[in-house]
Amino acid sequence: AFAGRSKAGNSSAINTLTGNSKLARISKTPVRTQLLNFFSIDEQRRLVDLPGYGFAKVPLAVKNEWQKHLDEYLSERQSLRGLVLLMDIRHPLQPFDTVLLDWAARSAMPVHVLLTKADKLTYGAGKTALLQTQKVMIAKKGLQATAQLFSSHNGQGLDDLRQHLDNWLLAEE
Ligand code: GDP
Repeated sequence: AFAGRSKAGNSSAINTLTGNSKLARISKTPVRTQLLNFFSIDEQRRLVDLPGYGFAKVPLAVKNEWQKHLDEYLSERQSLRGLVLLMDIRHPLQPFDTVLLDWAARSAMPVHVLLTKADKLTYGAGKTALLQTQKVMIAKKGLQATAQLFSSHNGQGLDDLRQHLDNWLLAEE
């Protein structure tokens, strides 16, 4: 399942990953983000785009509804193999991200963090952001997490992401 704040780059990442530019529509409005979107790879494997967060203009009631869907999905989905958490590399570890990381630690759910839009930073600044994020995650007790740089615009990190998902989805049942 792919999670992240709105505009973190969820749709772009799924489109890049699947090579289908129309699959997860790039969000121009909050509408798409109200739903959990399931994408079947084959009969056994699915990617799930979880609702995004952070649209200031959305009423609180709607935000609460998203939160409910997300909570239910995360706590009840038996087949969930791992969480891909996307964070804009320029603003990592926002409160929403921390909530998800803490939940993952408590639930022993593996997390793979994509620091998205890595093309926006220099190589050095990107590496620094990656190290800082890893440092915070290592400090969280019980959290099983990895992180990488990613860019939908230039394909940076795509092979690493594929490898990681293969490891999750091809593992023995
Ligand atoms: P979502 O709301 O999380 O699904 O985010 P989107 O995929 O719709 O992306 C939000 C905005 O960020 C769009 O304007 C995208 O073009 C832009 N964006 C997404 N990924 C990248 C990236 O890798 N690099 C850059 N520079 N911009 C990106």
